[in-house]
Amino acid sequence: MEATLISADDIKTKIDELAARIDADYADREPLLVGVLKGAVMFMSDLARALSRPSEMEFMACSSYGSSTTSSGVVRILKDLDRDVTGRDILIVEDIIDSGLTLSWLLKNLQARNPRSVEVVALLRKPDAVKVQVPVKYVGFEIPNEFVVGYGLDYAERYRDLPYIGRLKPSVYA
Ligand code: 5GP
Ligand code: MG
Ligand code: MG
Repeated sequence: MEATLISADDIKTKIDELAARIDADYADREPLLVGVLKGAVMFMSDLARALSRPSEMEFMACSSYGSSTTSSGVVRILKDLDRDVTGRDILIVEDIIDSGLTLSWLLKNLQARNPRSVEVVALLRKPDAVKVQVPVKYVGFEIPNEFVVGYGLDYAERYRDLPYIGRLKPSVYA
């Protein structure tokens, strides 16, 4: 680890802002939060508690074929939703969008299940995400193109438990 990029306090403030926007947008319908395991676990649990309206939770786990620090866009479902989402208002909860390939695949996959709507909330977004046109309604922080860990994000399954987001020294993963 090198340095803190986003403190626990800043994460909390941002989640309260996102929750207020989501509360307003979903005033007349109940979102079905779909968390993408494992990275979104901390964000999902804090976001769900910051929303003032009730929501339901589901989780999916996907794996993209590729090295541990880049994404290939070829995605395999490791754990699917536990229920039918026809007619539901899905809100995908993502930790970070880098290339956007994982999310663009996931959006197509969920849209094919005939929900009423699908939107995305991502805590972090990196600049490369502009290359793939993925509509992300709610973004917490735009961050530079660096590998980050903490608050759910791992490197080789470590650092997920950090309460803040930090940069990982390139020497650790290069
Ligand atoms: P994408 O398909 O958008 O390139 O990447 C999606 C996934 O790659 C994210 O959900 C996350 O699991 C992983 N990822 C992308 N950038 C980072 C990063 O900086 N740190 C960590 N720990 N994971 C990342
Ligand atoms: Mg993710
Ligand atoms: Mg990972």
